[in-house]
Amino acid sequence: MSCCFDSPSSHIPGSQAGAGTSTTAIHGGLEPDPLTGALVMPMVQSTTFVQEAVGKSRGHAYSRVSNPTVSVLEAQLGALEGALPAVCFVTGLAAETAVFLALLKAGDHVVLGDVIYGGTVRLVGQVLSELGITSTFVDASVAENVRGALRPETRLIFIESPANPTLKLTDIKAVADIGRAAGVRVAVDNTFLTPVIQRPLDLGVDVCVYSTTKHIEGHSTAIGGSVVSRDEALLDRVRFLRKCTGGIQAAFGAWLTTNGVKTLPLRLKQHSANALDLAKALHANPHVASVNYPGLEDHPQHELAQRQHLGGIHGGVLSFEVVGGTDAAVKVLNSTRLCLLVEHLGGIETLLTHPVTMTHADVPREHRLVVGIPDGLIRVSVGLEDVADIIADLEQAISIAHAESATRTGGAGARAAEGVLR
Ligand SMILES: *Cc1c(COP(=O)(O)O)cnc(C)c1O
Repeated sequence: MSCCFDSPSSHIPGSQAGAGTSTTAIHGGLEPDPLTGALVMPMVQSTTFVQEAVGKSRGHAYSRVSNPTVSVLEAQLGALEGALPAVCFVTGLAAETAVFLALLKAGDHVVLGDVIYGGTVRLVGQVLSELGITSTFVDASVAENVRGALRPETRLIFIESPANPTLKLTDIKAVADIGRAAGVRVAVDNTFLTPVIQRPLDLGVDVCVYSTTKHIEGHSTAIGGSVVSRDEALLDRVRFLRKCTGGIQAAFGAWLTTNGVKTLPLRLKQHSANALDLAKALHANPHVASVNYPGLEDHPQHELAQRQHLGGIHGGVLSFEVVGGTDAAVKVLNSTRLCLLVEHLGGIETLLTHPVTMTHADVPREHRLVVGIPDGLIRVSVGLEDVADIIADLEQAISIAHAESATRTGGAGARAAEGVLR
């Protein structure tokens, strides 16, 4: 290791061209602390950095502008995606806000996918709209819909794939091509799959945004967001906006996240394996009307999933519709013993959400049904517990819900359940 102290920046193993994703996650952008040799970079809590002389500093002045611990995370996230150092924010939505402000001004128009994170919809519909920025939401799973929504004043296309909670995919390369042909920037919220499974920059997209709160940190201990790009001028603008609006991540959150990143590839492999096994088990359950998971061969976009997702894996999130609507879904969610009911995803625990009463409660029912969010839909962020235990827990909860609905309807519930499937 002494070589590293002689010349701290001479050798960053994970940054070597051709290193694999796990190697890069563990070493990329990281080096032992040059001062102490600490293997894990110590956290720097200081708000302020002493200037050696007027106009002479070691690169940091004040932690709203930059902080050494945040810089470590930024180098790491940039390396993981083969991009420039990321710009990290205190939340995913702060990162998104900076991207919108960097690329849009009054009079501009943005095209977005119609099933995207609820906070993004609120930001665009209730905040950017007040600033004179207009928007159109389209079903981006048909890429041509994006082209059709472009206007002369369109400056940005913003998509998310897979969509939450329908798991519909968008062909990112097709949308990137549409954007480039029209001279419109394209941004992808890549929170669900992370650069381990999906690399939108390689598909021609200008910028990725992340809620690092989810899989990237992975342990549900730090909120954060990041912006990743290969466009230096765009990142400079995003960094300037962060300084102006004050959204930089705090050192402790960044430090926790740097440790989370190291196991991200390993975790996503296991999340994905567990999700596929659970998807198959739910698919075979007579009280489940449908399962949405891109890794299932009968997912309508399975072919796109195989092409767009790396490593033959498809992430840790799936959704399924339990027969019996909201009542049955609520009963399932109230009957699990292992899986936890939360508004969150990407943690190591298996986490359940009922979109209709939780994340998508504000969305009118007709619109929900059109975009594929029925009353009985349950979203599962499949954790790292033994998959047999996850499956057993959900199956017993579904049985309880089914038995109750059968009692209520004198057996009609059971017959309805069979009818949906067969
Ligand atoms: C959670 C989430 C966000 C927002 O991130 P925060 O860190 O909660 O601000 C944005 N996009 C997606 C897809 C998310 O899941």
